[in-house]
Amino acid sequence: MHLLDLRSRPLANLRLSVTDRCNLRCSYCMPEESYQWLPKQDILTFEEIDRLVDAFTSLGVDRVRLTGGEPLLRQNLPVLIGLLAKKTALGDVALTTNGVLLADLAQPLAQAGLRRITVSLDTLRPGTFHALTKRDDHARVLAGIQAAARWLPRDLKLDSVIIKGVNDDELCDLLDFANEYGAEVRFIEYMDVGGATAWSAERVVSLQTILDTLAARFGTPQVVATPGNATAQRFRLPDGRTFGVIASTTQPFCDACDRSRLTADGMWYMCLYARGGLDLRGPLRAGLSTLELAQHIAATWRRRDKRGAMERLGIADRGPMLDRPALAQDPHLEMHTRGG
Ligand code: SF4
Repeated sequence: MHLLDLRSRPLANLRLSVTDRCNLRCSYCMPEESYQWLPKQDILTFEEIDRLVDAFTSLGVDRVRLTGGEPLLRQNLPVLIGLLAKKTALGDVALTTNGVLLADLAQPLAQAGLRRITVSLDTLRPGTFHALTKRDDHARVLAGIQAAARWLPRDLKLDSVIIKGVNDDELCDLLDFANEYGAEVRFIEYMDVGGATAWSAERVVSLQTILDTLAARFGTPQVVATPGNATAQRFRLPDGRTFGVIASTTQPFCDACDRSRLTADGMWYMCLYARGGLDLRGPLRAGLSTLELAQHIAATWRRRDKRGAMERLGIADRGPMLDRPALAQDPHLEMHTRGG
């Protein structure tokens, strides 16, 4: 039985950031080179994460997705995967990665019990990759996807953030590439959250534009039915291939949102756009029992009312949600700390 918030949305899907560090500098998330990192002593240990997940599963959470920053930077990550995979209350343990370190880690992650993996791939062009990420790791990401296709083929996803004038001419090629590896690509609309300080509405490639572009090449896509709380709308092409679009900016899905986010230092956020969160590290380290932690979490979720992306929809002359000075005041506002 799931715990419901003020909008009858269940507490079901926990996105778990295991580090705020990243080895790429994607312009729509980490446009700067240096950041104020979370203090090392504040980072939750695997045992602490394990305990907090027990509190969440006792309230009905049945899916966990590991994120970052870049989660594969966290040392011994297969150990944590092993702890989570043992939990019978969890029907799904998934992970989102930028793929740079995946070629060597796909096998141990799979053997530790990881169920599903999503790899971020915004471009097939090394030059565009460098322009987007300030790094030259494109070939390593492609090798990582190859390893994922071998060791974690089930429900393999490739996520591509599409930005006008950057990679919106690669939609068809990205779809073809994903299918070569038995993966499903999900095109993500550019979001104005966290470190996206250069965001503008003009640079957003909308769901409709994505569908029109693909239809021109492959024929009209048909809608594929998806569960109400899914982030991606899914479509099937006349040739049977499928793809997804995550339209957080033009068609937000907050009314069915069952997701919340735990940062690597134990701050819990009810929404990607939320300014404030709940500190769980303090009570945990103060010795609260798992039951007491669960009561703390339950009381907060019951008061949840946030619909961040929907609230942004109505803003005239919409610009980036946050500027550099605001982000510098609280690193938890950053997407790479909140885990996307
Ligand atoms: S913006 Fe917030 S409420 Fe809306 S879908 Fe994202 S996390 Fe959920």
